[in-house]
Parts: sequence; C-alpha cells; structure tokens
Amino acid sequence: MSCERIYLSPPAMSEADLAALTEAFQSNWIAPVGPALGAFEAEMCRQTGAAHAVALASGTAALHLALKESGVGPGDQVFCSTLSFAASANAIAYCGAEPVFIDSEASTWNMDPARLEEALEAAAKTGKLPAAVEVVQAYGQCADMDAISALCEKHGVVLIEDAAEALGATYKGRAAGTFGRASVMSFNGNKIITCSGGGMLLTDESALADRVRYLSTQAREPGRAYLHLEVGYNYRLSNLLAALGLSQLKSLPEKVAQRRAVFERYGERLGALPGVTLMPETPGGEGTRWLSSLLIDEQEAGISSSELLDALEAEKIEARPLWRPLHTQPCFAHCRVYGGAVAEGLAARGLSLPSQLSEAQQERVCACVEKAFAQKR
Ligand SMILES: *Cc1c(COP(=O)(O)O)cnc(C)c1O
Repeated sequence: MSCERIYLSPPAMSEADLAALTEAFQSNWIAPVGPALGAFEAEMCRQTGAAHAVALASGTAALHLALKESGVGPGDQVFCSTLSFAASANAIAYCGAEPVFIDSEASTWNMDPARLEEALEAAAKTGKLPAAVEVVQAYGQCADMDAISALCEKHGVVLIEDAAEALGATYKGRAAGTFGRASVMSFNGNKIITCSGGGMLLTDESALADRVRYLSTQAREPGRAYLHLEVGYNYRLSNLLAALGLSQLKSLPEKVAQRRAVFERYGERLGALPGVTLMPETPGGEGTRWLSSLLIDEQEAGISSSELLDALEAEKIEARPLWRPLHTQPCFAHCRVYGGAVAEGLAARGLSLPSQLSEAQQERVCACVEKAFAQKR
C-alpha cells in the first residue's frame, strides 16, 4: 500500500459527479449546446458574482477570446505576470501580440505592482501603452488587486484576469474572476474543479459575453443559412462536460476547505524544518491553496528543492517545481521583462507538494520530506 503513487493534484470525483454525467448522457445532449451548459454558467455567476459567464473548451481558449475581444492584435504589447504557466502568454501570441513580462513580488508571488507601474510609466512616455494588462492569480490566490486595478485605471489600460488557478479565492471579499474586464477560469484535469478539459470567460458586460458566445461557435449567424460574416472558433464547451463541471462546482467550498486543510497540516508538520517557508497569503486575500507550495533555502536546509523533488520521486510521490518564469522560456526569450529576479528566485527555491490527498497519504509525504532533510544534514 505504501507503494501506491501519490499524485500532485488528482481530480476529486464523486458519485454525484458520475450521476450528473450519466444523466446528461442519457438525455442524449451529447452536443456543444444543451441544458447543462447554461446551468453551469449560471452557477458560476452565482458563486463568483460575475454577471455573465461563457463556458468554453479550455482556459486557454477563454484567454484568447478575452484578449482578442479587448482589441489585442498584431503589433500590440500585453503586460503579463512572468511566474505562470505557458498558456498565459501563448494566448497573447495567438493574437499576434507580444507579451512583456512583469516580475513577481515576494509577498504574493504574483505580479508586483511596483514593476507594473514602472512598465506603464515607461510605456506612457513612449506614447505606446500596452493593449492590455494580463494579471495571473497564481497558485490559487490573488495578486495585490487594489494596486493593479488602480494602475490600469490610471493609464486607461484594459485589465484581463487569468484566474485559471484561483477559482474559489477571494480578495477583500470579492471573488477571483471578477477583477478583469474579462476573467478566465480553467477546468483542466489538475485544477480545483475539473471536467477533464474546459474553461470559462467571466465578465460584467453582456455585449462582450454575447460576442464570445458567437465567436466560440464558429461565428455562425443565426438563421437557416450557413452565413459567416467573420472568422470564428470552435471553442464552446460540450454539454456533457458542462454537466460534469456543474456537479463539481457545487462542491467547490468543500474542495477549497480540503485544500486549505492540507496546506495547514503541511505548515504544522514541515513549517519548522530549517530553511522551509510556506507560501505567503496575499494581504486581504483568502486563497484556495490550489497547490501546497513552499520555498527551501538550500543554505539553511542543507538540501535543495530539486534534491527534495528527487527524494519524493524515489518514493513515488509526485511533486513539482514552481512555474519556470515565462521570460526564461526559450519561446519567449525575445520578449522584454521588467525585473525578473524575484520570480527566478522563487522558481529556484520553490516546489509544490501533493495537494489533494488523504491524511494517511499526507503522512507519507511528510515522513519522506523529514527523512530527506535528516539524511542531508
Ligand atoms: C491551466 C492554466 C491555464 C490554461 O487553462 P487550460 O484550461 O488548460 O487551457 C491558463 N493559465 C494558467 C495560469 C493556468 O494554470
């Protein structure tokens, strides 16, 4: 039993989820439209407070349309958090635009408002502001949204929120996914809720939601004729997956509570090890602890984060380094970055431990970490 592999963030599926999927299947709504789709969107609006939601095939597709419909096009720049998954910047590239990366701050691991200000001031001086700012709410928690929103407002730049990892998080009582002109969620397999693959765009603007719905269904004009006035995309979520997503979403509060409890237990057990610092929580924010992440100071700990990753892997425990900062990715190496050292430092020292697991499994993870520390010291 102790040889069973422990995964980083496996899907948490219930009997109710299976029943929801079966019901959608039996109703024969195996199509990219159907009753579950609207119900999933309505439940997302209810839980986040967003006025409109459009269910899409992936978070990346949602980001693409969010940017495109905010006017991002060829030759534009988009200021984007550097500590993130590639999808955040890929969507910018799909628009023919170029990401300009903004460093993290140590207190949130997310976009540093001071760096954003510096970048916006520099851009304003040249007379060419970015077409949008894309803030990533990484690792299940919000950035310093008061400061970031104020800067975007001051310069009149559209704010797009990549909340793919932060469903269920809040900042000053307001839900992640409601800070952007358009905000994006992901339901990929490792996210806090999943329908195996899917995403959603949230917005308070009904015209924007209508446009995204239209573009995501191949921009087909209503009526009998197959009439297309512009080029569209096949980005709508299927009804079958929406049924699963809706069922998963209903238990989001429990899922958040479980992940937070996992993080708390890691803190109690591992927080006192030399050189270990758990991920801080954004002032004014409550994160989901989507992944339980921590930093290891090799000097103090006597072990590096990559050595610890090896020790965990040897015991069939899946842990991961933090995102490789996007400005260090070969495919974005030509892009400009403001700062970068903070994100690089976090990435060099950070890792995420299994975050969706039983207490017995967590005991195994903690014992493995303690053993690795003891052996190295
Ligand atoms: C997962 C993720 C995405 C992409 O979502 P998909 O549904 O996998 O396309 C975008 N941004 C961030 C920060 C993510 O973690």
